Amino acid sequence: MKNDPFLNAQTQIRKVSEVIELDKGLLEVLLNPQRVLEVKLPLRMDSGELKVLTAYRSQHNNALGPFKGGIRFHQNVSIEEVKALSTWMTWKCAAADLPLGGGKGGIIVDPKELSKKELERLSRAYARAIADIIGEDKDVPAPDVNTDGEIMGWMLDEYEQVIQRKSPATFTGKTLLDEGSKGRTEATGYGGVYVMQELLKQLSIEVPQTIAIQGFGNVGYYFAELAYQLGHKIVAISDSKGGVYSASGIDPVAAMDFKNREGRLLGLPNTKEISNEELLELSVDVLVPSALENVITDANVERIKAKLIIEMANGPITPTADEVLFKKGILSVPDIIANAGGVTVSYFEWEQNKKGEKWGKEEVLGKLSSKITKAFNDTYAKMKELGTNMRVAAYAIAVSKVAQAEAARLK
Ligand code: NAD
Repeated sequence: MKNDPFLNAQTQIRKVSEVIELDKGLLEVLLNPQRVLEVKLPLRMDSGELKVLTAYRSQHNNALGPFKGGIRFHQNVSIEEVKALSTWMTWKCAAADLPLGGGKGGIIVDPKELSKKELERLSRAYARAIADIIGEDKDVPAPDVNTDGEIMGWMLDEYEQVIQRKSPATFTGKTLLDEGSKGRTEATGYGGVYVMQELLKQLSIEVPQTIAIQGFGNVGYYFAELAYQLGHKIVAISDSKGGVYSASGIDPVAAMDFKNREGRLLGLPNTKEISNEELLELSVDVLVPSALENVITDANVERIKAKLIIEMANGPITPTADEVLFKKGILSVPDIIANAGGVTVSYFEWEQNKKGEKWGKEEVLGKLSSKITKAFNDTYAKMKELGTNMRVAAYAIAVSKVAQAEAARLK
């Protein structure tokens, strides 16, 4: 099948297995999810009509800890996508040094076509259908595309009714009212800044740096906010409607106030308009793609002039563009390290729920900073050792770690 994400995920594992000289048997184990559940969910619509929807939960690997990964509600969900995403979660958790494995779930549905009551019934039906295979020490779901803290709350409530006891650690990404963690909102953006600061330290580059950020949502905004607080100059930001540029720098808080008022960044005072394509090609110190996948491709990679790239979006650079950047000497921090702040704070939520604790925001962010900085430094050292780019180094660490844990339990 053309462009099958699961085949891509398997190709990646095969490539890394050559770098780390992985045992053939262990490679076979890691190539496929341990279990994939497919369920049919009957959904009573408000009109009285009964519809049957297809849903999945893929559990790729739990050698390091319980399966962990989001639940996606989207019309394009497929078994191949869910299997691929669960595989990538295994590597992300391992690279971030979390005692968690990889999982992912999804329902083939366009949630925008459902009423709130229908959405709740569907979420509860899904939780009932996967109840046997999830649990705080088995498999811990979280929000993903089109799911949020409220949906996690419904699923947790349904799950607890099935098992007849409290178990808040079974779902993360819950609202604060439902025992979610403080600091989760900022976690991914801030985590990326902690990584950038450490990279600058490794390269003996001083603050301030000029930064261009594509995407001004949860991730892009919090990245900009902390980088600005630390003295960096944010020269360009963008959203889906276009970008704005100012050589003297943009205050992200003022920019977000403007965006909230006007519904766009275009027209922000003291800036000039640029397109998203132009933003990517600016002569800046640091480029931060924080919106979509596949934005740096064969078509524009030769025109990329940034010295460093922090991949905050998932998969913003295509594999062939990645090779060109490496040859051009542009250092790029891969998504599985740069945006691991989100899953790291999900892990902290799980830990707080299991211990019955509630940590303050400063404590959460302090722990995040230590954890993600260490993961970055390990990857940076591996990159130096292997002479590869940082993505290969991160995958080499992750796959080796999981393979070692597998070998230990497959005696
Ligand atoms: P979001 O929906 O809050 O924000 C997305 C931003 O991208 C918005 O500003 C939107 O206007 C902009 N955008 C959309 N289409 C665009 C286009 N064509 N050109 C330029 N900008 C465009 O999403 P988010 O949570 O900030 O996630 C952004 C990326 O980070 C995604 O790739 C996501 O998978 C990844 N990510 C997010 C988290 C997290 O915790 N939120 C964690 C890991 C990875």
